[in-house]
Amino acid sequence: MTFTTRFAPSPTGPLHLGHAYSALLAHDMAVAEGGTFLLRIEDIDQSRARPAWEAQIYEDLHWLGLSWPQPVMRQSDRLPRYRAALDQLTALGLTYPCRCNRTDIEAAAGAPQEGVPQFGPDGRIYPGTCRNRPASEASDRDVIRLNMEKAVRAGDLRSFTETGPQFEGKHQLDPEQLIPTVGDIILVRRSMGSSYHLSVVVDDADQGITHAVRGADLFEATQIHVLLQSLLDLPTPVYHHHRLIRDENGKRLAKRDDARAIAKYRTEGATPQDIREMVGLPLLSG
Ligand code: GLU
Repeated sequence: MTFTTRFAPSPTGPLHLGHAYSALLAHDMAVAEGGTFLLRIEDIDQSRARPAWEAQIYEDLHWLGLSWPQPVMRQSDRLPRYRAALDQLTALGLTYPCRCNRTDIEAAAGAPQEGVPQFGPDGRIYPGTCRNRPASEASDRDVIRLNMEKAVRAGDLRSFTETGPQFEGKHQLDPEQLIPTVGDIILVRRSMGSSYHLSVVVDDADQGITHAVRGADLFEATQIHVLLQSLLDLPTPVYHHHRLIRDENGKRLAKRDDARAIAKYRTEGATPQDIREMVGLPLLSG
């Protein structure tokens, strides 16, 4: 199988040094393996995505010296595909509509108990208020959740291979971990038609991704992705979670960190080689 990887930014702000590192690393790995580097625009959150940011992504990545096959996959074009994946999970009896808002969830979660985690890779762990609502009751005002207890019984509980230095090795899906520390994740967000987790799983499979290269902040979410792959009968790629680029105070860079935007370095006269040096990647010869 040809090594195929991707860079999957959301067009909700300027790309910064952390994005540059992720894109360059994925690209360098693909080149070293004689493989393919793909780009995917993760724009399901249409309330935050902007065409101008998308245009800027193409410009920044080209300037960095990257190229990728056309056409670029855009999540906003793929809502029927996400719907089909959701329907597959619903047909397995694993989904339910949830009408709780943040306040409801906080009230139902009650006071924090010692040793019981409150937050997981999908945010606050859902207390289960709507868990017994039938899938047929779903309306536009609901989010759709995965019933984690049923899902771990339905899936094949695979393992995945991680090659990033921080988490290197084989990781086995563990129901004892997934139920209490991840819980009933959101598959479809209100007015979005999907969620990050559902889209990323379907997209990686449809793009034939063999190696998912991305930031270490997404390592905990990987167990969700591998579980969804098993439920949807999709292949599991090898994962490579890389270190995060941090500012001088040790904080990871965020979209609003305009000071470290690639475009800003560019207008200040930096070269792509300078960017490589700043993020600690080998310089390209020639
Ligand atoms: N769109 C995600 C981000 O910008 C990346 C998702 C992934 O690589 O799986 O953080």
